Amino acid sequence: MSVLDEFVLDGKTAIVTGGSRGIGRALAKALAEAGADVCVANRNTEAARTAAREIADATGVETAGVSVDVTEEADVERLVGETVDRLGGIDVLVNNAGIARTAPAHEMSLETWNEVLRTNLTGVFLCTKHAGGWMVENDGGTVINMASMSAFVANYPQQEVVYHASKGGVVSFTRQLASEWAEHGVRANAIAPGYIRTEMIDELLAENPDMEEAWLSEMLVEKMAPPEDLGGTVVYLASDASSYMTGETVVIDGGYTVR
Ligand code: NDP
Repeated sequence: MSVLDEFVLDGKTAIVTGGSRGIGRALAKALAEAGADVCVANRNTEAARTAAREIADATGVETAGVSVDVTEEADVERLVGETVDRLGGIDVLVNNAGIARTAPAHEMSLETWNEVLRTNLTGVFLCTKHAGGWMVENDGGTVINMASMSAFVANYPQQEVVYHASKGGVVSFTRQLASEWAEHGVRANAIAPGYIRTEMIDELLAENPDMEEAWLSEMLVEKMAPPEDLGGTVVYLASDASSYMTGETVVIDGGYTVR
C-alpha cells in the first residue's frame, strides 16, 4: 500500500456547509476528487443544487444539494436526515459556513454580534451535534471546522472583534470536542486560513480597497490564495492519512502569522 492510498475517500460521505461557493465549494470538490460522495449544504437551494450537480459531473461521485440555515436546529436535523437517506451515511462533516461583519466594537450593534456568533459558532455546534452525533451513534468519523488565522492574531485595518471571537471559539470548541469524542471514534480538527480570495473578501475590499495592500505587506507569500489551495488539507484531515491527529488547528496563511 502506498502512502497515497491513505488519502483515498472512496466509500465515504461528506457534508460541506457553505459548499455552494468560495472555500466550501473548493473543499467539496477536493473531497469528491478524492472519492467521497458529497452533500453541499447552504441556504440558497438553487446554488446548492447547482454546485452539487457540477461537482458530480466533474468527478463522477454521488452528490446532493440541500438547503440549510446552520443557525436553525430543525434545518440541520433535516440536512442530516436527507444526507443519510440520499447518500447512505455521514463520515465527514466540514463546518465551513461562515460570515464576516466589520464595525468598531463601540459601534457594533448587538444584532450584528449575535448574527456572526449564531452563524460561525452556534452553526458549528448545531451541525456537530446532529451530523457529528450521527457519527457517534454509528461508526465514527471526522469533524473539520473552518476557523481562521483571526483566532490567533489581530487583523488590520478592518475592525471585526466578533469575527475574531467566533473563530477563537471554533478553535477552542474543536480541541474540547476532540477530547470528548475520541472514545466514540470521532476526530475533530480545524483549518485556519489567512486571506483567501472569495466573495467574503471581495465584500470587505469593496468597503475599503486599501486593505489589500496592508494585508499583502504582512504575508511571506505575497498573494491571496485561491480556495483550491485548501483542498489538499481537507482531504488529509478527512482521510486515514491524519488518523493520529485530533484536536489540532492547521494554519494556512502564506506566513501571515509567522512574524
Ligand atoms: P463566502 O461568503 O464566499 O461563502 C460562504 C458560504 O457560506 C456560502 O456558501 C453561503 O451560502 C454559506 N452560508 C452563509 N451563512 C450560512 C448559514 N446561516 N447557513 C448555511 N450556509 C451559510 O465565504 P468564504 O468561502 O470566504 O468563507 C468560508 C469559511 O471560511 C467561513 O467560515 C469563513 O469565515 C472562513 N474563512 C474565510 C477566509 C477568507 O479569506 N475568505 C479566511 C479565513 C476563514 P448561502 O448564502 O446560500 O447560505
